[in-house]
Amino acid sequence: MTDTLAIIRSVFAECGISQYAEGERGEKFALLFDELIAFNNVTNLTAITECEEVALRHFADSLTAADKIPMGASVIDVGCGGGFPTLPLAIARPDLAITALDSTAKKLVFVENMAKKLSLNVKTLAARAEEIPEYRESFDVATSRAVARMNLLTELCLPLVKVGGRFVAMKGASGREELAEAENGITKLGGTVTEVDAFSLLSAGERVIITVEKTSPTPPAYPRPWGKIKKKPL
Ligand code: SAM
Repeated sequence: MTDTLAIIRSVFAECGISQYAEGERGEKFALLFDELIAFNNVTNLTAITECEEVALRHFADSLTAADKIPMGASVIDVGCGGGFPTLPLAIARPDLAITALDSTAKKLVFVENMAKKLSLNVKTLAARAEEIPEYRESFDVATSRAVARMNLLTELCLPLVKVGGRFVAMKGASGREELAEAENGITKLGGTVTEVDAFSLLSAGERVIITVEKTSPTPPAYPRPWGKIKKKPL
């Protein structure tokens, strides 16, 4: 635990986010690492298992969205899988109320366990993002990492965001190219791109964090069923 914590603190310091591993938050990240590895031995959640790599590629990477989210926001993390960015965000930003959404209920078991163990403000929802009309335009922020290309992802995420809220898309090196493909759809769905933040996350490489403000309501025709979204992106 001590070694784990020291490694996590050193990676966070290198990334310029040491504040997120101070005090109790650091201990929570260390516990999250231990539990992730233990759970991963039984149910595969991640191919990355070495502490330094997990701290960089899962924890610090998840926190690249942290400064894009307003204080006290309600957040839906679309396709959270094993809990990224949900769990690191919930540890680092206890002011957020996060709904961790994934279509595979099995993946949410770990997220739910960790939310309880670490007393995080996280609830889980097993459903497809495009099939939850009861949550339409009800979140301040939608986040998403490694779920789909931007032109498809926007139709999953923007309908869930309130007017005045935002969608924070966590992308890698292909972010700008994906955004060019998605611009038409973003406008149709009521969004306006307000920031494209491109930087390098140490050895994890280029990161592109795209912020889309929800400037007008999403027309009722969207989101369409997944088959249509995929076959004919907006
Ligand atoms: N965000 C996590 C991460 O970065 O480690 C998981 C990424 S994983 C590659 C993609 C996840 O998105 C899977 O767990 C999958 O079940 C989920 N997913 C894909 N399409 C979805 C949809 N339409 N609604 C909800 N979840 C979806």
